[in-house]
Order: sequence, then C-alpha cells, then structure tokens
Amino acid sequence: MTLNVSAIPLFKDNYAWLLRDGATGTTAVVDPADAGPVEAAIMAAGGRLDLILLTHHHADHVGGTDEIRARFGCPVVGAAADAHRLPKLDRAVKEGDTVAIGDAVGRVIETPGHTMGHIAFYYPDGHALFCGDTLFSLGCGRLLEGRPADMFASLQKFAALPSDTQVYCGHEYTEANARFAITVEPDNAALKMRMAEILALRAAGRSTIPSPLGEEMAANPFMRAPDAVALGRIRAAKDSF
Ligand code: ZN
Ligand code: FE
Repeated sequence: MTLNVSAIPLFKDNYAWLLRDGATGTTAVVDPADAGPVEAAIMAAGGRLDLILLTHHHADHVGGTDEIRARFGCPVVGAAADAHRLPKLDRAVKEGDTVAIGDAVGRVIETPGHTMGHIAFYYPDGHALFCGDTLFSLGCGRLLEGRPADMFASLQKFAALPSDTQVYCGHEYTEANARFAITVEPDNAALKMRMAEILALRAAGRSTIPSPLGEEMAANPFMRAPDAVALGRIRAAKDSF
C-alpha cells in the first residue's frame, strides 16, 4: 500500500500537504490554511477530497478550513483538546486514535509544546509524519504555550518512530534553522553535510521538505538535546538568534 504525498506551498513559507491513498484514491489535506491554492491543488489532482486534518489552531494552518469543507463537503479532524479554538470539528481525536485515508491507517500523536493542543499524524504506510509546527527540519516550534519538558516529551515520541520516516512539517524554515544549528554543533559532520545540501536546494529554489527522521536524529539540535533543560536552553538561544 502506498500513501502519495505532495506539497501545497502557501503564503511565504507554509506547507499544506495533499495525501492520496494509492489503493482507493481517497484523498486528504493537512492544514489547508489558504483555500485558493489548496482548492487549485485538489482540482489538479483529480478534484477529490475526503478528509481535512488539522495539526493545531493557528491561522496559518487552519485558515482555509471552513471554505474547503464547504467546497468539498468533507469532514474535519482535529484535536479534542483544542475543539474550542479550532474550526468546527466533525471528529475530535486524541492520543492513539486512528485516522484512515482509504487503506492507509494513521495514528494520532499528541505533541504539546508549540501549542498545548498540537497533534501530529503518523502514517506507517507512507513512512510519513505530519507534524505541523512541532518538529521542523533542523528546528522545532517556538514554545508559545508549552514548557521545554512538554516539547522534549513530544520530540521523544517522534524519536521512537522508524528512522526512514519522512518528516512533513508545516514550514520551510530549514535554511534559517541550519544557520542556528551549526552554532550549537559546529563539529557535527551530519549537520555540515545537511547544511551544504540545504543551501544548494534553496539556491535552486527547491524545497527541503520532507526530510528523513534519521537525518533529524543526526543533525537537529532539538532532537539531539539530551533532556528538557538542554532543549529549553537551545530553544531560548534560537529565540534570540
Ligand atoms: Zn503554529
Ligand atoms: Fe505555523
């Protein structure tokens, strides 16, 4: 079984993700923040949408949800913990719940830190993790609501996934993250290699996302922080970088 994933670039540096189950053609979108480009991408892919998945309540992730729901008449799935501040949910989910896209069955992972109600969706069939603003390539989300211990525990959940998992995050922040990461671990060979790759991709106007989880484990200072205190220190340094 395969889950095909394609990027829908939105605004300056956001990504919505279009997911299509190869076996059934069932299609879902993650974080449809801007209805126009999301609708265009859906129409270009065949005009079918069965499900909307939301990672967290920020406008740059949920903005186009009601318009896309009205256009395609499909249900919206989001965190039960944040039902009060998300667009109207047809299904409110929590840790361990499953969300099927045709034959591809995903699992909900609660990832407090950036916001307290943040969730991620993990699809083993596609080796795909949709993690919104929790984990970025070579970075992590700002701690707008959670404490370092929350984010540390959330990233530890990701660390337990297979290393060939592809990380589909919500923003193209990789180059700026790399410039900070290299100040944390100037001698990290994996980071230096990833840095060179990123600079080449961005110079060519290409996306750096997704990135393999194994590379994040090797090069992302937030994934590599040994404990919550260290993570908090690195996060504070990044905030003022
Ligand atoms: Zn956010
Ligand atoms: Fe965001």
